[in-house]
Amino acid sequence: MSNTIDIGNFCDLPLYNLTFKLDTTVIDSCPPLNIALRSTSTILSNEHLLTNFATHFLPFKEHDGRFPSSVPSYLMEKMKMTFTNANVPTIILSSEEFLDVPITCAIYGSYKGRQRENDVNIIYLNKELIDCSKLSDLPQDIIKYASIILFTILHELGHWTFHHFSCALDHDLATPKGVLMEEAGEAVEFLMFGFKIQHYGPQEPKYMVTYGGLVIDKY
Ligand SMILES: [Zn+2]
Repeated sequence: MSNTIDIGNFCDLPLYNLTFKLDTTVIDSCPPLNIALRSTSTILSNEHLLTNFATHFLPFKEHDGRFPSSVPSYLMEKMKMTFTNANVPTIILSSEEFLDVPITCAIYGSYKGRQRENDVNIIYLNKELIDCSKLSDLPQDIIKYASIILFTILHELGHWTFHHFSCALDHDLATPKGVLMEEAGEAVEFLMFGFKIQHYGPQEPKYMVTYGGLVIDKY
């Protein structure tokens, strides 16, 4: 159903340039994924927004607990070079990678590079999320799913960048550290949008948005 939708009717974002090695036929047959990648590409090519990733690139020992007031040019160049098709991690749509969690449909993505050497350049997206996102052709549903997929990709990119650049692939280093007084994925969500929507589970509300430590919406 969804692959016949013309997203041009309600999405004016330029075409994605970052594909994370996903097949373009897969992207184009899933409007929410398509819009999420257009958003991701737009965000990661915007210097102002890129500054939110600065602490994820700063070497671990240089973290001093403050968000940098300006981003050194060498760091900005590094970020720009990193967020190119040649250097971003591969996104794999998988169901199997989420079978070991208590509620498989409650986890949208994961980065397992800390635990598995072969996965240092892989971000997994839950295939169930992608499949479900194709079930509605209503623009408001497509936009909601696109937002969840976008948040998931940015969240996992937070883990990937922090592990690669801040920690230089040292598996023993982890957040919280310095300005990242929370886990690396949540930090990106909060820095980028001012709130976070990932990380819920059986112990927490099914859906939760927090802002400044306060829960502002949940059900
Ligand atoms: Zn996380």
